[in-house]
Amino acid sequence: MGDRGPEGGLFAYSELCPPSPFPLVFSGGIGQSGRLPCTPLAIRCLITAGPTREFFDPVRFVSNPSTGKMGFAIAAAAKAAGWTVDLVSGPVALPEPAGVMLYPVVTADEMLRQTDALFGPCDVLIMTAAVSDWRPKVMHPQKLKKDGTGLTVEFEPVPDILATLAQRRRPDQLLVGFAAETENVEANALAKLDRKGIDLVAANSVAGPDGAFGNELNRLILLGHDGFRHALGPATKAVVAEQLIAALIARLAAPTR
Ligand code: C5P
Repeated sequence: MGDRGPEGGLFAYSELCPPSPFPLVFSGGIGQSGRLPCTPLAIRCLITAGPTREFFDPVRFVSNPSTGKMGFAIAAAAKAAGWTVDLVSGPVALPEPAGVMLYPVVTADEMLRQTDALFGPCDVLIMTAAVSDWRPKVMHPQKLKKDGTGLTVEFEPVPDILATLAQRRRPDQLLVGFAAETENVEANALAKLDRKGIDLVAANSVAGPDGAFGNELNRLILLGHDGFRHALGPATKAVVAEQLIAALIARLAAPTR
């Protein structure tokens, strides 16, 4: 593994996606899906999706079961609302949503560099990616050979992408995180608002067979500062995504966030 461009060239915003022209400015009415209001503003949205993979040799990695479905559905819903959408995704088996700029990445480090390159001009950041929280300390350049004994791999934390970006946020940017939790879902999610320096967190249960990973259905609770609480779903991920974008449109239109 490793970076796929000299000095971050692959990740340079100016090379990949010029900041203008902004999308068509809609004057109201309905989105392409027929279910979403079009935003009467030129909104640029940056979405992350899927898992990351952290390799300890060229063919073995640690990761998680995220399929990217929720993030891709949000990207499609944002596009349907007339937003310009940059989608940074870890490895998934999903078709590229029409009209969305897709930036494939593999590791947390690559995801950080790509989102960092796209963050400046974005108005709304939605981090749905299930970033691997740890990576092996050592990446062996050749495939490790089995010798009948066990293997001990030492891990180190990966950078927190959301917290890193939030440190250089502008006050007018809306930052939305996702909290995949197996217990105390709302309390754990709320704790992330301050810890990560974000405006909203979508609490998401990943416990048991009904958990969000890979499922067609989902249920989110959107939480903000000052007791803001908004339930989305249960419904298909496409419908929950439209509800989320509609909630963000209302939030963007509110005089205070
Ligand atoms: O508490 P946790 O780190 O799991 O918070 C989840 C939120 O933070 C998600 O929005 C996820 O995309 C983001 N995250 C991140 N970088 C990490 C871990 C999580 O941006 N290394």
